[in-house]
Amino acid sequence: MYVQPHELGQGVVDGSPCMMDGEPVSEPPANRHHRPRKYKKALWRAYGVLPKPNECVMHLCDNGWCDNPQHLRIATYSQNTLDATIKRGGSLGGDRPHAKLTKADVFEMRRLRLEGMSYQRIADQFNVVVSCAYNAINEITWKGIGNAIEQ
Ligand SMILES: [Zn+2]
Repeated sequence: MYVQPHELGQGVVDGSPCMMDGEPVSEPPANRHHRPRKYKKALWRAYGVLPKPNECVMHLCDNGWCDNPQHLRIATYSQNTLDATIKRGGSLGGDRPHAKLTKADVFEMRRLRLEGMSYQRIADQFNVVVSCAYNAINEITWKGIGNAIEQ
């Protein structure tokens, strides 16, 4: 299911609960590593589609661990950015090419990768899907920002 323009920045409108392993949950899991990549499986089962390499799984609820298919949408990076920007009440004119990450985050992700941390662990730490982390680290997104934070 692809995100619809009117859904961007709206969060979950039908009031359905976030779910994990098919069970409704109200509290985020204490162990974030319990957040499996099940949402992709849930997406596949519910809609028969998976994100293409240039797309993200977007959570309407912003809970990366949630696998309620009603909260999952396939979105482009720019839609994902727009969603996050609207939710934060920020301006829509930002030049951020990637959702929910800042320039400093991307520098930190690249540094962690150089130190040998896996893409999955980095993605978990920054609460993005692994393809988003991979793309940011490998300059598929966040091109040309250099490798160090300007002081
Ligand atoms: Zn949810």
